[in-house]
Amino acid sequence: MVVPIPYSPRTGQHHHHLRSYKSTPASTQARWNLLALLLLFLREHLDCVSRRIGGPPTHAVAVPSTRGKPGPHALQELIGNRLRLPWLAAVPNPRHGPDVRSFQADWFGVRLPEQGGLVRPLIIDDTWTTGSRAQSLAHALKTAGASSVAVVVLGRHVRPEHAASRPLLKAIEEPMFDLSVCAAEH
Ligand SMILES: [Zn+2]
Repeated sequence: MVVPIPYSPRTGQHHHHLRSYKSTPASTQARWNLLALLLLFLREHLDCVSRRIGGPPTHAVAVPSTRGKPGPHALQELIGNRLRLPWLAAVPNPRHGPDVRSFQADWFGVRLPEQGGLVRPLIIDDTWTTGSRAQSLAHALKTAGASSVAVVVLGRHVRPEHAASRPLLKAIEEPMFDLSVCAAEH
């Protein structure tokens, strides 16, 4: 179950926020902007996501950075405990470098809580490009015993120069973005 919130054309403001919220130094404006978008989206549409995965998420997990930045993911740090969900930790396999663009079954290691019934993790990621990292993490979670997994991403990357993107860019011109509906509903 993959739910991108908006599209994110590479030349757009949202793309700029998705880059600069975790740059050094990070843009405070971008951080608040993305946090507000995520929290508002989940307030309106978490029920839509829950219906599609058989119940509300029990845990949150951020797709770990594969660029070797230590410590918690920038997104996890930004969200903190505002989702009221415990965070699961995922550890990237160093065999796969940051430039891998395809699904890898052994890309991430995860450990689920030993007791407490069903685990339905909500994967949160900033950008969906090929989807290989989020899908590899979903695979790892299911292999570890998760009953179902949802993925919510802050931006679905679009390359405007790519010919196949043109009809899409045309389609999202008007209305540019509508928070009242989500991908899980259609
Ligand atoms: Zn919805």
